Amino acid sequence: MFPRDIGSIERAKLDAILIRNWREIRTNLLNLDMDRPDSLCSWLGSAGYVPEAMLECPNALYYTPGDVERMAASNLGWRPKFVTDGIRRWLKMHRDVFAWLRRLNENQFREAIKAAHEYRTAQYETDQTRVNAILSEKPRTLLLKDPAKTFLETLGAPNLDASVLGLALRGTSESERLAAYLYWDKEGFPTVTARCDSPIEALCLSIHIDQNFSQRRAVNCARCGKWLDQIRGRDRFCSKECRNFYTTAERRKKIGLVKRAAQDWTTLPAQKKANRDRAEWIVSQVNKQTADEYALEVSWVRKMLGSSELKSQRTRAQNKPVPGAKTVTRRGRAAKRAERE
Ligand SMILES: [Zn+2]
Repeated sequence: MFPRDIGSIERAKLDAILIRNWREIRTNLLNLDMDRPDSLCSWLGSAGYVPEAMLECPNALYYTPGDVERMAASNLGWRPKFVTDGIRRWLKMHRDVFAWLRRLNENQFREAIKAAHEYRTAQYETDQTRVNAILSEKPRTLLLKDPAKTFLETLGAPNLDASVLGLALRGTSESERLAAYLYWDKEGFPTVTARCDSPIEALCLSIHIDQNFSQRRAVNCARCGKWLDQIRGRDRFCSKECRNFYTTAERRKKIGLVKRAAQDWTTLPAQKKANRDRAEWIVSQVNKQTADEYALEVSWVRKMLGSSELKSQRTRAQNKPVPGAKTVTRRGRAAKRAERE
């Protein structure tokens, strides 16, 4: 399919369609905005889905270098009009199930797999009972509880699609099992290669791999709420921008708290201040008031008390009018001057 002359295609763009980073595609799916057709098109293309319209065209297998370049760079030919309501619903269903699975810890994941197997058995038995009831004309058995409902209730996931969730837990979200090859590599280590039939199966498999063999968990960015793969336990932000913004805002909040406590210290009676260290008192006050949310340290507070940063930031206490105090406006001043003259 690729022309010999690929010099005009950027290497990175070509790599993106030849070697897919499923974890990245998975995170992009979790963050996918279903109301933005352009995002849906680029996601579908990045995952390797080809629009049916392209396959229906008899010349679809012949691509010019220009076609390949365009498709590699954008979205494998997806256009908003190809994204039907059915595709959108199908994507949303999988996105919600995958996001739910990624929140589970190892034990919860295992328990959920067990529940998915029980659901399949219950569904089979219910279907059998229904068939027997129809054959023997006993409609009372049709009052059976819906196994899908029980399954979702057990897992506490009432808004998910039971069938997709069940398949995702027991298999690959599209099938109960997939083919795999076992062999020994040249170092003598056993290796298993699983064969996926579709991008969504590869994504589901990547979830099983991460839930079972890695510490990676998906969390929401502490600033903007976007999903991210938590590679280290302290990863909390989707981007550098979010981390910087959050850190600056938190620092401002901390400085504001220190400043307010420092003002409270000045109003303390002398005997209370005796034998007490100002910085230590401030730390104990702030940590008590915020239930240790910021876990201030004495050394940091001491440094702040001597810095110009603390003096320059106006606190809410300073901006708030003191109750009972008279505010002298410009007009008031002018009136007083007139009185004097
Ligand atoms: Zn963010």
